[in-house]
Parts: sequence; structure tokens; C-alpha cells
Amino acid sequence: MSPSAWLSELNRALIVFIPCTVAGMVSGYMVMFFIIGLIAYGLWTAGQMITLKKWFDSGAPADNAPEFIGIADQLVSAVADLQRQNSTRQNSLEKLVSQFNEMADALPDAVIVLKPSGEIQSSNEAADNLLHINPDSDTHSRITQLFRDPSFTEYFSTGKFDEPLEVQATTIGDKELSIRIIPFGEDRLVLIAQDMSHSARIHEMRRSFISNASHELRTPLTVILGYLETLSGHPKLPGECKTATHSAELQAQRMKQLVEDLLALSRIESTALVTKESEVIPVASIIMEVVKEAGLSTTINQHGIQTQIETGVSLKGDLQEIHSVISNLVNNAIKHTESGTSVQVSWKMADQDSAELSVTDTGQGIAPEHIERLTERFYRVDAGRSREKGGTGLGLSIVKHVVERHEGRLMISSELGQGSCFTCSFPAHRLLLEDQ
Ligand code: ADP
Repeated sequence: MSPSAWLSELNRALIVFIPCTVAGMVSGYMVMFFIIGLIAYGLWTAGQMITLKKWFDSGAPADNAPEFIGIADQLVSAVADLQRQNSTRQNSLEKLVSQFNEMADALPDAVIVLKPSGEIQSSNEAADNLLHINPDSDTHSRITQLFRDPSFTEYFSTGKFDEPLEVQATTIGDKELSIRIIPFGEDRLVLIAQDMSHSARIHEMRRSFISNASHELRTPLTVILGYLETLSGHPKLPGECKTATHSAELQAQRMKQLVEDLLALSRIESTALVTKESEVIPVASIIMEVVKEAGLSTTINQHGIQTQIETGVSLKGDLQEIHSVISNLVNNAIKHTESGTSVQVSWKMADQDSAELSVTDTGQGIAPEHIERLTERFYRVDAGRSREKGGTGLGLSIVKHVVERHEGRLMISSELGQGSCFTCSFPAHRLLLEDQ
């Protein structure tokens, strides 16, 4: 309490006690007038407190406060200061909130704040355009009741939001949406939905262009290759033409392989998953078949191929696609390593939740800076060497897409001078175990 507060309180006491002291001295009843003074001072103070309480309860601004003297007056001034500070703070908060809302409305992506139960707390204008969620009428409704897409409902109910959900929203004009949910604060989620329809259309146009171009090239190439094969085997072909014909035949074969790989890639490139019901793939026998074929071609390279296989584990998916995964990985381990390298192909349960197909070699390995990029189309560590070995640079890209279409994951580890390991991990619900 400031000294002026005590001073003004002393003034108030003097207003009461001076007349009482004078009256006591005049009348000779000092004690009685002192008690009367005390009672008057107490009643005045109590009256002030009651008025103060009433004013507090009314919530009226400090400028309209009743007149007080002493400490009560000081209290009213302190409250007035607090009210002024609060009002400045509230003004700047309101400004901040309105700026934030304007910014959210200016975003091209839908932004919705949700409770963990899915109850909408707030949303921006783009949410209305993109998901038909109106900020005025739909607040406090459940998102799953307004955006009724089965894959979204499942995604939301799992509560696992590490990966975004790509969804073709048929209920809202067949839009391609990428939906991301990010937890924030103590119990809030922010949903961000992005319209991917335009880029999906461009992606589809590019995919179908590559597919059509490859189809168009396939037939003339088969004819050229046929003629070249006949020519190079012709007994009357002059010696000087033989080398040229042979080299043209090799290049035509490379081109054919390239066209086949491009066609395969554009077929599997769609993000759609291979249905689990499509086929039961006997992975073990495909590995044996691929290893046998590779063994025939490795007599020159003398690679030692060992297998470690759990025969009772099969995979549900597309047989041709899984065949191409195994064949690409095994042939890479032979193609890109030195003669004498040992290669191990294994297919086994990694734990209760997944099975792994691994191709491990003890070759020269791959430098760390290349590993991230190996699954990009046409990416090769050594382009010249890859071409020389008949590589197209599309093999690992095909492997990655096929594995993802089977809800699996491709993992690559390698160490220079030690070798490489390519592992495809498939989830339990994609597997069929013999004793089931
Ligand atoms: P390619 O047709 O060249 O084999 P891939 O996409 O299958 O194309 O492989 C991309 C590149 O990854 C290869 O060019 C090669 O440099 C590297 N690579 C793949 N497998 C291995 C391996 N087992 N050991 C070393 N390098 C490899």
C-alpha cells in the first residue's frame, strides 16, 4: 500500500476522531466519545466496503465507480489501472485473432481445427469450397458425419496420422485430395486438405503419354529385332557386316527391354493397391525359379547364390509383379557386383507382424549419397557400366512401386566395400501362413 493511501486513510480517521476528542474534552466524557468515534469510523468503513463490493459485483467500469475516501479509493484506482491494461491486451488479442482468421481464409488449402472426437471447432473459407464444411453452420458437428468418405472415416478412426491420406472424394465432385492431420496443443487436431486434382491430372496425362509412346514403339521394334536376328544368323552375311549387325541387335534388345520396363512402370505406377484377394503368390517357388535362371547366366560371373526360405509363407497380391521384384533384385545383385560375389536370397517372417524378402550381396556396395536416389527413374550410380550390363535404370523404381502396391516397404542398406542389402517388408495381413 502506498504512503499516500495511509495518509488519506489517516485523514478519514481524523475527520471522525477530532470532533469526538473535542466533544469529549468539552463534556468531560472522553472515553464515551472515543468509543462513539470508533463505532462511527467502523460503520463508515463497513459502509464503504459494502458499496465497494456492490460496485465489484456490478462489473461497472472504474470510471463510473462511486466516490471513496482512503484505502477504498486506492483500491478503486488499482482496479481502474487493471481494467485499462486488460482492455489494451484484449484489443491486441482481438486484432491478432482477426488477423489469424483472415490469414486462414486466404489459404488455398482447407484448414479445420478439430477435437480428438472429430468435433469441428473452427474452419476456414477453403474448407467450405473444398469439403463443403461451412464455418457458420457446421462448427460443433462431427467431421466424419459431414465428410463421409469411407477411407477418411477409417483413417480418422485409426488415429495414426504419420502419413497423409490420398483420397478420391466422389461425394464432393470427384476431387483428388491429400489430407494431413496434425495434433497440436493438449487435445486438438488440425486437418489440412489440399486439392491435388490438377497435379493428379497432369500426372495421369504424363503416365498415359509414356504408356502410349511405349506401346507405339513396341511393334516396330519387334519387327526390327526380328530382321536383325535373322540377318545376324545368315550364313552369307559378309564378315564386316556381322559386327555391325550384332551390335545393332544388342541395341535393339536394350531398347525393347527399356520399352517393356516403361510399360511395366506405367502399369504399376498408379497408387491403387493390388487387392488382397487377387492371387496367392508362392514366393518360395518364384525365388527358386529366379535363382535357377540367374544361376544359368552366372556361370561366367561365378556368383554363389544361396537361399534361406520359409516355404509355408505366401503373399497375397499380383504374381507377375512380385516375380519382377524378385527377378530385378537378384539380377541386380549379379549385374552390379564383381565375379565371385556371394548373394543370399531370403524369405522369412521377420516377426509376428511382417515377412521380409531380402537380397544381400557381398559386392562393392553403394556410397551413402546414392542410396536415397536409387529408386528414382533412370538413376544409376554408374550409368555407363549399367548400360554395358544391359540395365535400364528402371528396375528399382519398379520394385519400389510394386512393393508399395502390396502395402510393403523397400529398405536399402549398403556399405562401400562390404555389400548391399535390399529388403522388402510385407505386413501380416498380406500374408498367408500354411497352418492358417
Ligand atoms: P539398372 O537397370 O541400372 O540395374 P536399377 O534401378 O535396377 O537400374 O538400379 C539402379 C542402380 O542401383 C544401378 O544402376 C546400380 O548402380 C545400383 N545398384 C542396384 N543394385 C545394386 C547392387 N546389388 N549392388 C550395387 N549397386 C546396385
